[in-house]
Amino acid sequence: MNWVDIEAKYYMKTFARLPVILVEGEGVRVKDVDGKFYLDMVGGIAVNILGHGHPSLVEAISGQAAKLIHTSNLYYTVPQLELAERLIESSCADRIFFGNSGAEANEGAIKLARKWGKERRDGAFEVISAEYSFHGRTLATVAATGQAKMKGPFEPMPTGFVHVPFNDLDAIKGATNGNTCAVMLEVIQGESGVHIGEQEYIAGVREWCDSQNLLFILDEIQTGLGRTGTLFGYERYGVEPDVFTLAKGLAGGVPIGAFLSKEEVSVLAASDHGSTFGGNPLACAAGVATFDALKNEKLVENSAATGAYLLDKLNDLKGRSDRVTAVRGVGLMAAVDLDDEVAGAVVSTALSKGLILNNTGPNTVRVVPPLIINESEVDEAVSILEDSLSAA
Ligand code: PLP
Repeated sequence: MNWVDIEAKYYMKTFARLPVILVEGEGVRVKDVDGKFYLDMVGGIAVNILGHGHPSLVEAISGQAAKLIHTSNLYYTVPQLELAERLIESSCADRIFFGNSGAEANEGAIKLARKWGKERRDGAFEVISAEYSFHGRTLATVAATGQAKMKGPFEPMPTGFVHVPFNDLDAIKGATNGNTCAVMLEVIQGESGVHIGEQEYIAGVREWCDSQNLLFILDEIQTGLGRTGTLFGYERYGVEPDVFTLAKGLAGGVPIGAFLSKEEVSVLAASDHGSTFGGNPLACAAGVATFDALKNEKLVENSAATGAYLLDKLNDLKGRSDRVTAVRGVGLMAAVDLDDEVAGAVVSTALSKGLILNNTGPNTVRVVPPLIINESEVDEAVSILEDSLSAA
């Protein structure tokens, strides 16, 4: 079967895929259709936090599939409430709503902010977000996203989104007016190449939102669930958002998303929002198993420790290679800037050598591996990356 030709014939031309057909995975390794193994430093773009084929996740999914896959939200289901309880009890939020993806989670957060603005800030509806942010591909979330290249073909964009430079508190202050209802940020911008929010900035935005009666929304879709070495990224900053969103790793690879809010801003009422699939028993059983494994196997702690090791090794590599101009990272979320537009070539070369990497742009390689990764796997990845740099 030539799957590449079949994709070219039938699939919309939305993805520039790497030439590999993945069929199986175990731990931090995946296997292609020809039986070749790869060390997976991308983990489905920061999704497979337990790696591939984690026994308790597999058991939870298959057990739940045999019992009850879907019911709609017309009824109560146990896994949804088990997951809700776990997330609320371990976060700063009081209420949660489950959807099916990151974009859908952010859509919900934006809807909440608009209703809150209507009721609590004289009809304010504008959301300030950051340049080079990424919040999703639906119309509202791509409008919130601070990257012009993703919007062009779909203009005019929905109104109500203003963009300012990241890590620039004065820019947020300058953009705030009577129409503003919220500031929406990632604590670390993932898709644009792991750009880290500064402590004074994130804390300053929190204070500004308090002083101006604005909602502070954090998109923790990539930074949440242990990725940065704490359960949620905001914990590193000692601030609490009013609203935050999760997706990616939340169910270890089963599609899910969620937005969470403080009680006092939780304005959505009956019929304001909904989802047929959101929070269904299958996805939530996977979420519960993922959350429990994260805790039981101390994977948040591993993210911090092995993430620090990874950062050291990447910085050592920078010291040895003229190609590497910068290394950034927190926990198991890291990026390497290269001196030229060769990131795509490096990723392709690494793939041929059995290593899965991702480039967020022409100069930047990103690594967001499963949180189960260990130091020897990091050594292996950095060694193949080094070989790939000289070959590219
Ligand atoms: N927000 C952030 C910070 C993301 O990294 C992503 C995906 O990369 C999204 C939102 C969109 O999530 P999804 O692709 O599940 O819609």
